Amino acid sequence: MKLLIVEDEPKTGDYLRQGLMEAGFVVDLARNGLDGHHLAMTGDYDLILLDLMLPDVDGLRILGALRDSDATVPVLFLTARDSVEDRVRGLEQGADDYLVKPFAFAELLARVRTLLRRGKMPAVPDLLRIADLELDLARRRVTRAGRRLNLTAKEFGLLELLARRRGEVLPRSLIASQVWDMNFDSDTNVIDVAIRRLRAKIDEGFEPKLIHTLRGMGYKLEDLSPSP
Ligand code: CA
Repeated sequence: MKLLIVEDEPKTGDYLRQGLMEAGFVVDLARNGLDGHHLAMTGDYDLILLDLMLPDVDGLRILGALRDSDATVPVLFLTARDSVEDRVRGLEQGADDYLVKPFAFAELLARVRTLLRRGKMPAVPDLLRIADLELDLARRRVTRAGRRLNLTAKEFGLLELLARRRGEVLPRSLIASQVWDMNFDSDTNVIDVAIRRLRAKIDEGFEPKLIHTLRGMGYKLEDLSPSP
């Protein structure tokens, strides 16, 4: 885990770096806004600790530049006790949390760990389950009723798309663009053939059927059996 500290006060900077290194992090320390801005934009950090009051490029500008660049790195900013306005502006600019100086190191460490955990949360679960069909996204494996099914990479991609958007009718054009990287006018027969093969693997010999054709509209994956 690599952290960046942007802090111009030498004592605070050293103290934070020391403490975070002792807590097991790899730490870069920028002692001014210019270096901080450069490192924040170019380095690959898991979290940035950003002092707002910097003499050259201020913290809010660094934060704004980060968010404009679509960087999703969590930012915890540090601010002085009396500046409510800074706190509001920092959060509005997309910071994830803040700490008011002076703070206890233990509190800082707790906030850092919380933000890092939050950042680690996958956007979607690693396992998708529809009826007795299971997709293990991390290992690219599919089972139905506990039986391992052998899918090609494309078939897995197709099933993953259908499973992520279960219950939704997916037009052939969308499937073509998402799984085959083809555009709308391409030969959609490819998709019909792929669906037929996928269906043979995941639905043949199993109940309930999960892949449904909506004539003229597309395909969907859904468990339509009445709930018990
Ligand atoms: Ca400062």
